[in-house]
Amino acid sequence: MTPSCIFCKIVAGQAPAERLLENDRVLAFLDIAPVNYGHALVIPKQHFETFLELPDDLWLEMGQVSRHIALALQKKLSARGFNLGMNNYPAAGQVVPHAHLHVIPRYYDDGLHLFPQGSYRGQDMASVGRQLREALNSL
Ligand code: AMP
Ligand code: ZN
Repeated sequence: MTPSCIFCKIVAGQAPAERLLENDRVLAFLDIAPVNYGHALVIPKQHFETFLELPDDLWLEMGQVSRHIALALQKKLSARGFNLGMNNYPAAGQVVPHAHLHVIPRYYDDGLHLFPQGSYRGQDMASVGRQLREALNSL
């Protein structure tokens, strides 16, 4: 446990949360500031800061729990769709440095817009692709 971490405190029962589902390794609870009602967070009980530190089996379990949350959102809150999201590092909007998956119920008329998108110029797409393939081939 990381004592300064609010999600570790929730896991330990030292901070309140509307808990939805848990097992020995993963916990799901309601986000306190929901994008839509039912917006849930799925976290590993052990403190890992980002996706990059998460062991593969834990990531898999977070996915399984997220799927169950999504099914419950469809069944009980009539969600017509859902977003799975994860912010990693402050530059990407991560505020709580304990890895977490957002499961956000969606409705056709909820007014939420996804990321604005741009376009590549000239040879930029090929160049970016080449650089990333280089990095991927050396992992
Ligand atoms: P992120 O920007 O991905 O780090 O998001 C952190 C999320 O945690 C936000 O959506 C917050 O509303 C949520 N959050 C922060 N503190 C709590 C808390 N004590 N209980 C439930 N959700 C929280
Ligand atoms: Zn933590």
